[in-house]
Amino acid sequence: MALTGLDIFKQLPKKNCKECGAPTCLAFAMSLAAGKVALDLCPYVSEEAKENLGAAAAPPIRLVTMGVGETALTLGDETVIFRHDKTFCHPTVFAIEVNDTAKDLTAKIAKINDLKVERVGQQLGVNAIAVINASKDAATYKDVVGKIAALTQLPLILVSDNVAALEAALPGVAAKKPLVYAATAANYEKVVELAKANACPVAVKGTNLADTVELVEKIAPLYKELVIDTGSRATSQVLADQTQIRRLSVKKKFRPLGYPTMTFTESADPREEVIQASVYVAKFAGIVVLKADEKSQILPLMAWRQNVYTDPQKPIAVEAKIYEIGAVTASSPVYICTNFALTYFAVEGEVAGSKIPGYILPVDTDGTSVLTSWASGKFSADSITEFLESSGIKAKINHTTCVLPGYTAVLSGKLKEKSGWTVMVGPQEAAGIPAFAKAHFA
Ligand code: SF4
Repeated sequence: MALTGLDIFKQLPKKNCKECGAPTCLAFAMSLAAGKVALDLCPYVSEEAKENLGAAAAPPIRLVTMGVGETALTLGDETVIFRHDKTFCHPTVFAIEVNDTAKDLTAKIAKINDLKVERVGQQLGVNAIAVINASKDAATYKDVVGKIAALTQLPLILVSDNVAALEAALPGVAAKKPLVYAATAANYEKVVELAKANACPVAVKGTNLADTVELVEKIAPLYKELVIDTGSRATSQVLADQTQIRRLSVKKKFRPLGYPTMTFTESADPREEVIQASVYVAKFAGIVVLKADEKSQILPLMAWRQNVYTDPQKPIAVEAKIYEIGAVTASSPVYICTNFALTYFAVEGEVAGSKIPGYILPVDTDGTSVLTSWASGKFSADSITEFLESSGIKAKINHTTCVLPGYTAVLSGKLKEKSGWTVMVGPQEAAGIPAFAKAHFA
């Protein structure tokens, strides 16, 4: 049973020294009970208390890793139900299915390796390949798994209901720490032993939520590197399961469900499949296995995942400095925006698209957007003037004209007065920049 904050408090040193970041030991105990902090933040906890508090100190959802090196993946270790409570930590893994009967394996894997894009300064991509034992043949599976492992750096998920196929394929790729899928009620002793012997994580697959709990309760005493799949495939049922799992693990610290989750999309309609996957990303899935392998399907999912897993308290920001877009000269235009990454990259893309080189000066607004920072006073005539002075832009140009975002036209008079620059009011949306640039700077 989960310990309450008071149970935990009784075992703490009660120094109220604040070294853990909490104002009192009681506050720390309450945060620990809620799974929001780790016990090791308190340097004074006795060994006896550590032992007693082991369960309470463990994260509500276990951290599980798969893969090795630069492409290794961490799953779980989430501590909140709602993103705005704190943040979600480990983005949903996208794994693409490849059957061991696939014809042109080399081309297929090359295509998956290439499913990546840079967005707002971050590299996004698919994360794993799920090798499906469609042939049901152990030798074929071993051969194909070996070939795929040689063609990609991405971690693998070995998907087979044939224990012999898993036994044949796993040892050859165990050094790459694939996820073994799946331990079921019928085979869990053998599959868990195999995963454990090869130090790889293993997925536990039930037929529904209750049945999965029963299975995890049998397996957890044997091995704890688990990922859980309730076996549900209908979107509404997966959504219900994922929600229950997150609530029970985080709020009730219900240990049998305190593991990262995985699910598969099943829709044959590519558009529906993307919608299914987007629901699972929003609702807590640790891994989503997709059939989709077209950029047009995967890129929107990656953008959606990036949005869900961005820390709401720390917007993605770019450095406030001079950016030169294209072959700028002393007479190139100067565009002012904020250092919110989405704003900056939208402006950058459109300035580049205008084919008229220009400078972009993103004012430091703590990563907030134009209207948000204007409303909070961070994007003001004073802050823009200060940046025009401190950035060093004057040494690069032979004019003093800047372009202000259209939504903040109200600042133009005061900015002109404060800075002495000529202020042009630009378009409201970045998409208007090419036409604006052609009209004024061509
Ligand atoms: S560091 Fe330990 S002793 Fe100090 S306030 Fe936090 S819980 Fe109490």
